[in-house]
Amino acid sequence: MDNCGKREFALLEKIGFVRVSGSEEEKKAAEMLAEEVRALGAEAELEPFPVTHYEVKKVKFEMLEPEYREIEVLGYGYSGSTPEEGITAEFAYVQQGNKADLYGVKGKIVLVDGRVAPDVYERILKAGAVGFVSWSGTVIDDNARTDIDKRELREPHWRHGKCPGVVMRAWDAMELVRANPKTVRLTLVQEESERNSHNVIATLPGTDLPEEEICFVAHYDSTPYSNGVYDNGAGAAIILEMMRHFIENPPRRSLRFLWVGSEERGLLGSKYYVKAHEDEMEKIQLLINVDMAGPVLGVDRAFITGDVSLQHMVDYLGAEAGFPIRTTQDVYSSDSTPFADKGVPAISFARFGAQGAAPGHDRNDLLEHLSAESLEKTTGFIRLFCDRIVGSTWFPVPRTMPDNMLEAIDNYLHRWDKK
Ligand SMILES: [Zn+2]
Repeated sequence: MDNCGKREFALLEKIGFVRVSGSEEEKKAAEMLAEEVRALGAEAELEPFPVTHYEVKKVKFEMLEPEYREIEVLGYGYSGSTPEEGITAEFAYVQQGNKADLYGVKGKIVLVDGRVAPDVYERILKAGAVGFVSWSGTVIDDNARTDIDKRELREPHWRHGKCPGVVMRAWDAMELVRANPKTVRLTLVQEESERNSHNVIATLPGTDLPEEEICFVAHYDSTPYSNGVYDNGAGAAIILEMMRHFIENPPRRSLRFLWVGSEERGLLGSKYYVKAHEDEMEKIQLLINVDMAGPVLGVDRAFITGDVSLQHMVDYLGAEAGFPIRTTQDVYSSDSTPFADKGVPAISFARFGAQGAAPGHDRNDLLEHLSAESLEKTTGFIRLFCDRIVGSTWFPVPRTMPDNMLEAIDNYLHRWDKK
């Protein structure tokens, strides 16, 4: 090997800071990646796209009886605002937010378990609730070592209208229900605006078949509180290594490299790219996505959103190289899916942490759970795959999307559109 793991690890040390969609830090990470590309001798371009932004000006949750208690909460983004003085209403615990749970909640503030999915949100509103509370974490969390989730309503929620909401800790939610308050007061004042997120784009022309393109993608944004090294500084570093490799070994087919922003808010960067570059989709023979890698303890995976022969090819290569990898024909909850939705065959590589070995999406996404050796092994296999595919005489992957994958994509991306 060639020390690629060490280089990748060094890059993670540089970009391992919180870089949430639309933030200054996200832009800074984009510029750093563009600099890395330029240092390899290629061009890089930042393509901006608009994303929504919210800022909570005031948030408070109070239990008014049997005793007064103020409970720490965060405002739910894009859920609207209450009047300055808040809304005082009766309280109801509605568990999963099923129809039966929601009986008689008109005019009340409701506590719901877990994330408020769009269908739950719709039911809460139809039942006439005037505010909602959700909770994050577990009842055994150490408050000093955990954060309350920053949550927001997304586009599929918005069509149902606004209903102000907050998030609290699991323990506080449990104690709230135990106290059985008759009335509570919820205060939330927030402002919505627009910001820019960025995709970083670089291209290497093919030597023999420049009209055919293979596209690499990895998101570089993080969730709130997360340094985003496992998810997904690692993928960003791995596709940069693919670029280095193909600068040293010029590719037969053209290669495009995309480091996309705002994945964690619903694949916004890749969705923007496929829309803005719709006329270029046709020439993409294969999309190679890398999202999550590096855990010392874990398993390498490949998700194939395309013809099953591609899955067989990866199984075959794994056996040939003696590299353990579990393959699945499925959609992957990542940037591969908007491309697959446009008919582009896609493969996503990942190394998942074993249960408990690599926490993510919170402050525990840390370099100390990853290693250069782990990154190097995953990178080595992806490079082997890329060498075969990029250099193949005839492109071996059919550019068709099988019916089972069309259905899986539809379920993943469009199930809310149909409602
Ligand atoms: Zn990710």
